[in-house]
Amino acid sequence: MFSAASTIAVRLQQRLRGGKAGTNPSSVDSVDIGKDQEVKLKPGHILYIVNKLYPYTVEFVNEAESSRTNNTAGIIKSLSKRSRESSQNQSEMSNKYPRTEPDDVPNENKSKEKPHHNSEVKGQGHWSQGLKVSMQDPNLQVFKDEKVVVIKDKYPKARFHWLVLPWQAISSLKMLRTEHLDLLQHMHAVGEKIAQEHSAQSNAPFRLGYHAIPSMSHIHLHVISQDFDSSCLKNKKHWNSFTTDYFLDSKDVMDMVQLKGKVMVKDGASELLKSSLQCNVCKIQQATIPQLKEHLKKHWT
Ligand code: AMP
Ligand code: ZN
Repeated sequence: MFSAASTIAVRLQQRLRGGKAGTNPSSVDSVDIGKDQEVKLKPGHILYIVNKLYPYTVEFVNEAESSRTNNTAGIIKSLSKRSRESSQNQSEMSNKYPRTEPDDVPNENKSKEKPHHNSEVKGQGHWSQGLKVSMQDPNLQVFKDEKVVVIKDKYPKARFHWLVLPWQAISSLKMLRTEHLDLLQHMHAVGEKIAQEHSAQSNAPFRLGYHAIPSMSHIHLHVISQDFDSSCLKNKKHWNSFTTDYFLDSKDVMDMVQLKGKVMVKDGASELLKSSLQCNVCKIQQATIPQLKEHLKKHWT
């Protein structure tokens, strides 16, 4: 709650504006705050951080308490994110609650646009957290043991497509260290087992691996048949994420963790998603996804 008499001088540091002064201004209501400018927040004002992306209301303690502490930081009782309904940023809304399949292949810009520490932006309801929900759903689990669970990929990009996830909370490849080697080997063994069990039903071989820059949180090993015969495979990014070096073989990842103690992703990995469409079998280039799909029938039917 605001007390009627409370005002607070807030000097917005450059780091709050995220970028060159002026390009991503912070504002109080509709008034932009210039570099090193000081503004007064009054009851009812909304503090927008970075181009209206992050609207906050500020809750103050009463004046008596603030003068006792005589400490600007102490005057702010809480900064709370405005409710979804009041957010004016529709694109953030549609990212968080996609009406259709999320753009499930990552791009580096997406992660640059939003601060990683903003748990509310990527909280439990965010689409990028969906695997953590799916892995707990007994209806989606096709195998589980004390270390891992296997689920079917919700938007399979081939006739057979599973994800192997550890129960241990490891958010991404970046977090892997030598101590995870046993777990990675176990994930690989489980992935190979499930591929082996379906080898008779699949015309195509399987590959096991990780996306260099995953879009979904919680580390997951893809086990995918190489036919890529699926209506969910819709665009160049989908294709290139599984058929270029963007797809890191599970064995290479294990080797890297063993030798270097961590996974190193080459700079510019996201550029691979823009590569021209090349058949994964005969390497002949195709102009469009429909043409590529038609071409693939030659190999797998
Ligand atoms: P990536 O993070 O790029 O390695 O890929 C994430 C994979 O998770 C994609 O193949 C998606 O089709 C799949 N996926 C997205 N949401 C879900 C979900 N809620 N449950 C199961 N699989 C999902
Ligand atoms: Zn071909």
